[in-house]
Amino acid sequence: GRHNDPSRLCGFDYQGLRFSQDSLHVFAGLCAVDNRKHVGEMMSALQANGLRCTRMGAYKPRTNPYAFQGHGAVCLPWVFEQAGKHDIAVVAMEVTHEQHIDEIQQALTESGNACGVILQIGTRNTQNFELLKAIGRQPHFPALLKRGFGITLNESLNAAEYLASEGNNRVIFCLRGMKSEFGNPHRNMVDFAQVPTVKRLTRMPVCIDPSHSVGSRDLAPDGIMEVCHATAQGVTAGANMILVDFHPKPEQALVDGPQALQLHELDRFLKDVEIAREAY
Ligand code: PEP
Repeated sequence: GRHNDPSRLCGFDYQGLRFSQDSLHVFAGLCAVDNRKHVGEMMSALQANGLRCTRMGAYKPRTNPYAFQGHGAVCLPWVFEQAGKHDIAVVAMEVTHEQHIDEIQQALTESGNACGVILQIGTRNTQNFELLKAIGRQPHFPALLKRGFGITLNESLNAAEYLASEGNNRVIFCLRGMKSEFGNPHRNMVDFAQVPTVKRLTRMPVCIDPSHSVGSRDLAPDGIMEVCHATAQGVTAGANMILVDFHPKPEQALVDGPQALQLHELDRFLKDVEIAREAY
């Protein structure tokens, strides 16, 4: 039996795209939106590579209160305007407060374009039950739930069930590594061996976030970035979505620059994903 047999969490269609345990979508983009120019350059590169999905961080949950907290609602018009211009169908965007959902809804309406949003719930909010219920109740957007980095898989799967219990069955479950002293020098202990486990226990599409798992552009002895090795491992294991940080100028990024891949590496990244997918 599955984790929760009566669960209504399952594959779904959104913005003309299928999200299921059989599909594969790449959400490459900015960990944090810094300026309009970089949003445009990022989306232009996506369009040139035939991608219609992206990640864009507006509301950033930061460890240090004095660190850049994200531009919030201010940058939403930049994101949706550029999405319209570059034929982006879906933007994955983290929200940390119920109010952000309304801000996104309003900015989308004002932008007048047809782009969609998947509401991301960060690893620090996996058990923020009121936020989960709010995202469960709203009828507009699917959700991308990050597993909690310090709780059991079962606890994270129950968090997904909070979304369904309030009516949102459109949930993608994201593996992003576990906090561990033993995982060093990776930022988190990569957990992509659990892609098939989550697929066995639930009907949700499973995402991997190699950027926040590995946390750097470090090269393995074969000259390939470890973040790319981790991606290939996740895709070979059957991942249905990849959330990955890119930036036009990683050295200028306001959040997580050391783990962002460069735009000229996107083409190679996608080819490697294709090879890994064939191996699955
Ligand atoms: C992110 O994807 O921007 C992020 C903060 O990830 P996580 O919640 O997994 O740390």
